[in-house]
Amino acid sequence: MRMFEFHRPENAASAIAAGAQAKTAQQGADIRFLAGGTTLVDLMKLEVETPRQLLDINRLPFDKIDDLPNGGLKIGATVRNSDLAHHAKVQKDYAVLSQAILSGASAQLRNLATTAGNLLQRTRCMYFRDNAMPCNKREPGTGCAAITGSNRMLAILGASEHCIANNPSDMCVAMAALEATIHVQGTKGSREIAFGDFHLLPGNTPHRETVLEPGDLITHVALPPPIRGSRHVYLKLRDRESYEFALASAAVVISVERGTVTYARVALGGVGTKPWRSREAENELTGKPANAANFRSAAEAALRGAKPQSENGFKIELAKRCLTHALQTASNA
Ligand SMILES: Cc1cc2nc3c(=O)[nH]c(=O)nc-3n(C[C@H](O)[C@H](O)[C@H](O)COP(=O)(O)OP(=O)(O)OC[C@H]3O[C@@H](n4cnc5c(N)ncnc54)[C@H](O)[C@@H]3O)c2cc1C
Ligand code: SF4
Repeated sequence: MRMFEFHRPENAASAIAAGAQAKTAQQGADIRFLAGGTTLVDLMKLEVETPRQLLDINRLPFDKIDDLPNGGLKIGATVRNSDLAHHAKVQKDYAVLSQAILSGASAQLRNLATTAGNLLQRTRCMYFRDNAMPCNKREPGTGCAAITGSNRMLAILGASEHCIANNPSDMCVAMAALEATIHVQGTKGSREIAFGDFHLLPGNTPHRETVLEPGDLITHVALPPPIRGSRHVYLKLRDRESYEFALASAAVVISVERGTVTYARVALGGVGTKPWRSREAENELTGKPANAANFRSAAEAALRGAKPQSENGFKIELAKRCLTHALQTASNA
């Protein structure tokens, strides 16, 4: 690991001012906030990230989960993934979020990993993590080794000719289905970003993964009030039962009244270059009978735009079955 300076800013304003000196908030940033470190330190050891300055934000007052006046929930940026997953209100009213977090990583990692850090975790594409290989995300313009290489785990939705890396987060898939809002403080003040607008598609700039600018500090994530009577399921399919990233996953929030779907929010994981909300599936479900045929139609709609690579064509059917099964489970709950 290369040498770096380490600072503990006293408050958010000094963290933002120090962070704003960075040239970018994207891949290769020379100044980085440090939360749990489970992504960042990993990548620093591999010299995929080589910041000259780390700003430890763990002492900033963002480690609380609070009720919002509108009935929603405010989740601080440094709330540990374990604390969030086991929070009573999250388990009761936002169960899909609890299930998604608990399906990821290991207990030890979840004890350290934070809400904001999870939002910003990086792809597990093996070429991104290997400085000897070409990778447009790590080093723009060098090419994409995965397109002609090992791509079994990578994306089938949202990819470009420049990058096919998938977003590996489980938590983010649930937050997409819950329509979370990300709150950021930066040099120009505070702003909120709808979850679906936070992560970027790779296009021809795969090194830009989010809309964050230098100095932007995520302070919290807000969840809207829970949908009364809704049922939640997060289903994750992977190569082994635990400590493994998703091949395909589905987050489902659904309400069924007298056999008809009255509300549906659907997001997919493991298959998209960003956490993949499927409005196509939601439209296919809403107002229709909650039955196996309609769940399958929703899954067909969700995967209609899928483009497989040489090794991951199996993900299309896998993701369809994952979503169909999640919908079936939720509607029978
Ligand atoms: C072996 C292993 C297995 C894993 N398995 C899974 C899995 O199955 N599913 C899954 O979803 N995840 C998995 N993960 C990923 C894990 O969830 C993430 O590493 C973790 O959530 C990152 O959080 P952190 O607080 O440690 O982030 P950090 O490493 O501290 O930070 C990550 C990035 O976020 C930035 N950042 C942090 N906080 C802020 C803030 N407040 N404002 C702006 N920027 C900020 C940092 O600068 C850095 O760029 C795994 C990780 C490992 C190492
Ligand atoms: S898929 Fe993206 S991250 Fe992986 S090698 Fe290609 S450009 Fe790099």
